[in-house]
Amino acid sequence: METILVTGGCGYIGSHTCVCLVKNGYNVVILDSLINSFDNSFLKIKNVLLKEKISNKGRISFIKGDVRDEAFLERLFSEQKKNNKRITRVIHFAGLKCIYESIKYPLKYWEVNVQGTITLLKVMKKHNCFSIIFSSSATVYKPNSTKLLNEEDILKPSSPYGKTKLAIEDFLKDLYESDKKNWRIASLRYFNPVGSHFSGLIGENPKGESSNLFPAILKVLKNYQKNLLVFGNDWPTKDGTCIRDFIHVLDLAEAHIATLNFLFSNKPQYLTLNIGTGKGRSILQVINQFNNLEKGILKYNFVQKRIGDHPIIVADNKLALKLLDWEPKRTLKDMCEDTINNVKSK
Ligand code: NAD
Repeated sequence: METILVTGGCGYIGSHTCVCLVKNGYNVVILDSLINSFDNSFLKIKNVLLKEKISNKGRISFIKGDVRDEAFLERLFSEQKKNNKRITRVIHFAGLKCIYESIKYPLKYWEVNVQGTITLLKVMKKHNCFSIIFSSSATVYKPNSTKLLNEEDILKPSSPYGKTKLAIEDFLKDLYESDKKNWRIASLRYFNPVGSHFSGLIGENPKGESSNLFPAILKVLKNYQKNLLVFGNDWPTKDGTCIRDFIHVLDLAEAHIATLNFLFSNKPQYLTLNIGTGKGRSILQVINQFNNLEKGILKYNFVQKRIGDHPIIVADNKLALKLLDWEPKRTLKDMCEDTINNVKSK
């Protein structure tokens, strides 16, 4: 059985992906500093596996640490090898992700995201581990409201966060070019992951700031905030609110399994893929879906537009559909229903 290192595996997307990995027969080592997740995150992952009746005995472990800590990574890779559980591949989620925070603290974002990735890759190379899936983002694109964004479109991130993602993609490409016989690398550009595991046991639960829609919705569902603030109602869209490509986090997690399979069964390469549904949904459509599920559950009011927002950002996901044995299966209703389940199970 292969052992996969999952950095940031206690976080939102990481925790769902770890469940899928174990389910698909991989051994998993989670490395997380818990800067944006909690002490009980690992326990919750194990509880989901238990609930799904998936044996996890000795197959998933957690170690607290920072991807910027080279000596720590070095020890981790060596220990795993010594115990006959050599790390053969890495899925790299660890990083900071709030666009607005990154404008205030660019130093922190460049250091954690870029420096962390360089340190990780340095240790991987030293230990002959040449395969990585990197969490990139739709924020690397120059937004274009007139078409679906494909992998060849213009790259022009506007925030320090997006710039760190693009810098890491460039670095990974350079690395591949330097040793084309060995590196198998995929940068997955996620669009808007939302929802949670159907058990309600794990879900989005950021410690820090978030500029995304669903964390804001969660605050209202948990009664921390009365109304959801909707930024603008006169955008050039059918109902005046912004349109985004929301993808269920379990569909996104499954895209990682499909990418592991693709990288394994094809020649070494550097691959960039959009991971979205290809369908745009407006903010009002999402709100209405919540209120259809439970009348009046999501109150909202309109406020001024945010600087830097764009009316429409939707993925062209054709390349992922073509290359991977994968397609997003869950509906907007599933995304909202699972979000409600997650709140109720707390
Ligand atoms: P998250 O914050 O829930 O998870 C990230 C995890 O990484 C957290 O558990 C955090 O504690 C850990 N971490 C952060 N810095 C670390 C460090 N230096 N060393 C070790 N662990 C560290 O975020 P998420 O939503 O699960 O996102 C995962 C990845 O996907 C991130 O790289 C993010 O930029 C990217 N991404 C997320 C979205 C989104 O909307 N959620 C969209 C596009 C891309």
